[in-house]
Amino acid sequence: MVSNIRILTAGSCQEVEKVTYCNGQFKKITFPSSVAVIEHPSEGIILFDTGYSEHFKKATAHFPEKLYALVTPTEIDENTTAVAQLKSQGISVRDVRHIILSHLHADHVAGLKDFPHSKIWSDVGAFQTLKQKSRISRLRKAFLTDLIPADFEARTQDFQSISRSISISELSGDWQGHDLFGDESVIAIPLPGHALGHYGLFVRSKTGKPAFFLGDAAWLTKALKENCPPLPLAGIIMDSFREYKSTLGKLSKTYNQCSNQVAFIPCHCSDAIEYFGRH
Ligand SMILES: [Zn+2]
Repeated sequence: MVSNIRILTAGSCQEVEKVTYCNGQFKKITFPSSVAVIEHPSEGIILFDTGYSEHFKKATAHFPEKLYALVTPTEIDENTTAVAQLKSQGISVRDVRHIILSHLHADHVAGLKDFPHSKIWSDVGAFQTLKQKSRISRLRKAFLTDLIPADFEARTQDFQSISRSISISELSGDWQGHDLFGDESVIAIPLPGHALGHYGLFVRSKTGKPAFFLGDAAWLTKALKENCPPLPLAGIIMDSFREYKSTLGKLSKTYNQCSNQVAFIPCHCSDAIEYFGRH
C-alpha cells in the first residue's frame, strides 16, 4: 500500500458544461487539471499526470497550435504549476521518481518538462502513432509535440511491459490492470476511447479508501453517476467516441455499486477533487 495520496490542481480551463455532460447547461464551467501526488514507501513520490504549466503557453504561442488555446481558454499561473507547488511543500524535482500518464493530451503532459529526472509510464505505442501524424492531425488530437521531452522514449516504460495483470477485488465488474511495482498498490487500468492509450490508476493507500483516478474517461462525477456522456461535438478530439461511451457505461455501473468503498476521481471534476481533500 502507498503511504499517502493527495491531489494538487495545476491550472484550469473553461468548458461549456453541456458539451462535456449531456444533461448540463449552456454555461461555462471551470475544469481544474488535477495531479495526484502518491507517496510510495520504497518508490518515493509518484505523480499521476502533470497538469498545465508555462510550457503550454510556449507550445501554443503560434498558429496552428494557438487555436488550441483559443478554443480552450486556460488559466495558468507559474506559482500553481505542479513543480512550484511541490517545491513549496519541500519536494524537489529529483524527489519525483515516477510520472504516470493517463494519456498524452496537452493538459495532462504540459508539466512533463519540469521533471527531467523522473521515470515516465505511458502507452508508448500511442506516442509513436501520434508523433507520426501531421501537425494539424496532432493538434486535432490535442497532442502538442513541443510538450514532450526529447528523451521521452528513453525514459518511458510501457504499461504493457508489465505482464503482472491483476483483478481489482474492490471493484464490481471485470476490471484488470498492470501492477506497476509488484506490490498491488499502484495498478494501471486501460480505459479506452477518450484518447489513444488512455489509462486510469487504481491506488491502495494506508491512509484512506482506495482511489480510482479516471483521467478523462469521465469528466464529471455526475456524468459518471448518470452515465451521461458528453455531446458528440466533444468526441472530435477523442480516439473513439463509441469506445468512450462503452467505457463510461462500464465505469458508471461500477461507480453506482462501489462509490462508498472507493473514491472515483475524474481528473477535471472539482467536486471529486474537493471531496477527496476533505476525507
Ligand atoms: Zn484528455
